[in-house]
Amino acid sequence: MTRHAPNSVVVRVPGKINLQISVGPKEDDGYHGIVTVFQAISLFDDVTVTKRDLGQGISLDIAGDHTHGVPADETNLSAKAALLMAEKYDIPSDLSIHIRKSIPVAGGMAGGSADAAATIVAIDSLYSLSLSREEMHSVGSLLGSDVPFMLTGGTAVGRGRGDQVTAALSRGVYYWVLAVSTVGLSTPAVYGECDRLRAGMQIATPKVNDQLLQALLAQDAVTVGKSLVNDLQSAACSLRPALRLILDVGHEYGALGSLVSGSGPTVAFLVSDEEHALDLAVALTSSGVVGSVTRATGPVHGARVTEVR
Ligand code: ATP
Repeated sequence: MTRHAPNSVVVRVPGKINLQISVGPKEDDGYHGIVTVFQAISLFDDVTVTKRDLGQGISLDIAGDHTHGVPADETNLSAKAALLMAEKYDIPSDLSIHIRKSIPVAGGMAGGSADAAATIVAIDSLYSLSLSREEMHSVGSLLGSDVPFMLTGGTAVGRGRGDQVTAALSRGVYYWVLAVSTVGLSTPAVYGECDRLRAGMQIATPKVNDQLLQALLAQDAVTVGKSLVNDLQSAACSLRPALRLILDVGHEYGALGSLVSGSGPTVAFLVSDEEHALDLAVALTSSGVVGSVTRATGPVHGARVTEVR
């Protein structure tokens, strides 16, 4: 039986939470070295990439709960990924890309990077490129420092800009409640505020939090909760003071731990189980200080083909 080349591929990709972000001193090029621990969580975007006739170029459409602020032109990370793949592997970039978004936009959950990762995986399958994980990572890291992790998923330590990813062992399921703001925060603005708050301070080279890694291995959610750390949190709270009120509500309702996810403004609360997640979600919703509340579990796998047509 002959296998026909696919015309369309659907890839499902998760969002992420950073359980640790330790930010090093600002380097000469303006960036910061970081050490981060990522966990992929069960909020997904679905990216469908379909071949078009030669010469038609890229078309993009975006649907779903979270679309505000997502560009529908060549600045979309998914379109950038398609163009880069076409250039690098000498394949056509005449593609239609449909993104169904559930990952909050500009929420510190790497939604754009996730879509870029999904597009790389979709094009690999669409054109039977059979790229290795390393090859996909090297294309991904040109698009954004979170892209390599979104390809891998699970739990991982990120070094460098967060793009040098090593898988970490984690046991069990972690239950999260996420307070999502309607207005995002810009990652460069949060780093800028972090620099401002740290002016004149001696900043050490960041190290991975061993207590956190041990607790993930031991399935010890209580210690994971106590070990959550984000060096960008003060900066995100300084730019968006309402985040402190949200963190307080979670504390009051017995979250095992809480932190601003990535550069914010999503706030992630770790809870003990599904029931606790529901209780906290109700409390946050009725507090009136949160845009919307959603629940998720982690870790989950990275970008994966779910349908080939
Ligand atoms: P970062 O990866 O910098 O932490 P984030 O997770 O906070 O970012 P994203 O959802 O990736 O936030 O969006 C950041 C910006 O990227 C958006 O405001 C939008 O302008 C742009 N963007 C480009 N492509 C996409 C995409 N496919 N989905 C979402 N945002 C995109």
